[in-house]
Amino acid sequence: MKRRNFLAAAGASLFGIHAPAISAQGNGIVMTVNGPISPEKIGVTLTHEHVLVDFIGAEQVNPDRYDAEEAFKVILPYLRQVRNLGCQSFIECTPAYIGRDVKLLQRLSQAAGMHILTNTGYYGAANDKFVPKHAYEESAGQLAERWLDEWREGIEETGIRPGFIKIGVDSGPLSDIDAKLARAAALACKQSGLPIASHTGDTRAGLEQVEILQEEGVDPTSFIWVHAQNDWQLMRRIESAVMGVWISIDNVNTNNSDAIIKKIMDMKAAGCLNKILLSHDAGWYSPGEPNGGDFRAFDALFTNLIPSMKETGFTQQEIDQLLIHNPQHAFTIDAKTSGL
Ligand SMILES: [Zn+2]
Repeated sequence: MKRRNFLAAAGASLFGIHAPAISAQGNGIVMTVNGPISPEKIGVTLTHEHVLVDFIGAEQVNPDRYDAEEAFKVILPYLRQVRNLGCQSFIECTPAYIGRDVKLLQRLSQAAGMHILTNTGYYGAANDKFVPKHAYEESAGQLAERWLDEWREGIEETGIRPGFIKIGVDSGPLSDIDAKLARAAALACKQSGLPIASHTGDTRAGLEQVEILQEEGVDPTSFIWVHAQNDWQLMRRIESAVMGVWISIDNVNTNNSDAIIKKIMDMKAAGCLNKILLSHDAGWYSPGEPNGGDFRAFDALFTNLIPSMKETGFTQQEIDQLLIHNPQHAFTIDAKTSGL
């Protein structure tokens, strides 16, 4: 009954989309900043981007450091640009304590006419500069409870829920705090069904995280290996993809189509096209810099990579697999395990 109310309330969400009725078999949902949508509505998706990132550090980060109105005006044209190129959903990967601003995301989503997902979790990469102090003192279980609280109650009293868990770890061997973040993510995933996207320093760190997830009983299909293009070890990526891990190649830009296509073709040859996610890791309005600094657009995938892939012989079906079906599967939350 509770779940039914929740979905009914969300039925009034953006674009007149009505939240799906949960069937007896238990359909999934994708959780956007405007509430849940049916996974079939996700469409062409950029799976790893940022609108605003503040690198000032966990202790000083604060929404007062920027003018949200100015940020909105700078960022919106870039979202409209990719919306016009066919992008329907946008996964915003900036975690708390590094500039996550969910009200800004909601406003941008509505103005751009594009689904946006935000996240819960902490970023332990960059030598832990963005990890809040309490994360050192609390257990993995306590951190998971904080993140689950955002899932159940909404983020910072906005009612906006995360669509995934975002963490970050440096290169392996994992530090104690990075291992704790991975374990907290696993615990929160088990009780929410939220997928885990982890900024991952190198191959060793990726494999260690998967081990921690498995220790906690979390299936590797819930894990998105962010920046998997770094320290590219094809066989380890194939092994991981075969286990179910999502391989996020998220450095698409205007100059690297050939290198990206080579990686995709190698994965395709191993039968792993269904485990690849593609994105730019672009954006990055920077508080403290005039007009937010040098904002990077989100269009290269549409204007460079896809045309090059078609020339190389990729079919529309394969491109849809990469841009629509894979993101849909990666970000679908099982309604039965959501706890809502
Ligand atoms: Zn990123």
